[in-house]
Amino acid sequence: MEMTKDEMLELGFKFHGHRCPGMPLGLRVAWAAMEKLSVSRAKDGEVVALIETGDAHCAGCFGDGVQVASGCTLGKGNIKKTYYGKIAVTLVSRKDNKAVRAYVLPEFFAKMEQSPFMQQRNSGVQASQVSTDISQPSIDMVMSMPDSAFIGVSDVFDYEMESPVVQFKRVKCSKCGDMVIEKYAHVMDDEIVCQPCLETVHKL
Ligand SMILES: [Zn+2]
Ligand SMILES: [Zn+2]
Repeated sequence: MEMTKDEMLELGFKFHGHRCPGMPLGLRVAWAAMEKLSVSRAKDGEVVALIETGDAHCAGCFGDGVQVASGCTLGKGNIKKTYYGKIAVTLVSRKDNKAVRAYVLPEFFAKMEQSPFMQQRNSGVQASQVSTDISQPSIDMVMSMPDSAFIGVSDVFDYEMESPVVQFKRVKCSKCGDMVIEKYAHVMDDEIVCQPCLETVHKL
């Protein structure tokens, strides 16, 4: 599953759904962090990404680029959002308890805000509706700028993170019959219930 950077760019766009400069921004920042931390794309949960974006804001697409580049994915559970509203990521290597934080420099945002791509977005055009001749120059700019021109990377620092024990055991909810991973199940009146069933009872 080794991929070239070009392949990751294409995979990223397919995964992400549209061609924008935000997703490539995530690739570039994640690559810079990975290089500094000397880690490769996570096959399992050995690398964890803490992305500082929130929901529904500009350049949030960054998070998908981080997932593609770092192999830290929602499914594996080794990516978390901090909701700081920043375009930055802390990458943690569980093997040696080290981390780096990589972030986009302020000057980049000033430059991006002037771009025809952002002007279209600001006037309400959906990213998928922006024509390629407008989006491609912004994408090319993100992909071709040297790291030092727009990415800051911290020194490597210590970061200890609890290693979760992966649970395989499932139990059956006595109310709805769904199978539930044991640690998410509850006991109510000596019976096993899932979270939604527990909440339903409490609302009554
Ligand atoms: Zn996007
Ligand atoms: Zn249930």
